[in-house]
Amino acid sequence: MPTICFATNNDHKRTEVQALLGSDFTIVGLKEIGCEEELAEDQSTLEGNSLQKAAYVFDRYKVPCFADDTGLEVDALGGKPGVYSARYAGIQRNSEDNMNLLLVNLSKIDKRNAQFRTVITLITQHGKNQFEGILKGTILAEKRGVGGFGYDPIFVPEGETKTLAEMTLSEKNSLSHRARAVEKLVLYLKNLNN
Ligand code: IMP
Repeated sequence: MPTICFATNNDHKRTEVQALLGSDFTIVGLKEIGCEEELAEDQSTLEGNSLQKAAYVFDRYKVPCFADDTGLEVDALGGKPGVYSARYAGIQRNSEDNMNLLLVNLSKIDKRNAQFRTVITLITQHGKNQFEGILKGTILAEKRGVGGFGYDPIFVPEGETKTLAEMTLSEKNSLSHRARAVEKLVLYLKNLNN
C-alpha cells in the first residue's frame, strides 16, 4: 500500500484525510518520517505556502508528500486576512483576538460576504499538483457556537443558518473548504493508483 506524507503535525487533519482515502494509501505525519523541524510558511499566497511546505519535505525526505494552507478571504477587505488568517491580530496566533479584530474592521460594513479557501499541494515522482477547496458564506456581527476552531463562530456558510461553530464535526466536514480540496486530492490519488 503506497505511503504518502501529510506535511502537518495536526493529527486531527491527518485522521480526516485518512478516512477519506480509505485503505488505498497510508498517510503518515511529519514525525513518522523523522521531520521534527518547524516548516517555514513565509510566502505571500496560500499556493506559495502549501508548495513551500510540500517541496521542503519532498526534497529532504524523498517521500511523496502533500501540504495544505487555508485562509479566510473577506470581499470588503480585498481578500484579507487571507494568507495571514492565523496571525491577523498578531504573532500570538489567537483565534479570539483574530475574530475580535475582524469584527471591529467590519463594524461599519454591510457587505459581509467572505470565503474560506484551502490549497493543497501534492508532490510525487509524477510532479506537482494543486487542489483548491472553497466555502462561501457571510461574516456575522457577533460570535455564535463553541465548536470548531479559528473563525468558525462568526462564519455562516451560504444556504445555512448555523455558524460553522454551531455544526457538528460531520456537518462541517460535509461542506468545508478543506474537505472539498481533500476530495479532489483523493480523486487524483485514486486515479494514480489504478
Ligand atoms: P491552516 O492553514 O489550516 O493552519 O489555517 C490557517 C488559519 O486559517 C487558521 O489558524 C485559522 O485561523 C483559519 N482557518 C483555517 N481553517 C479554518 C476553519 O475550518 N475554520 C475557521 N478558521 C479556519
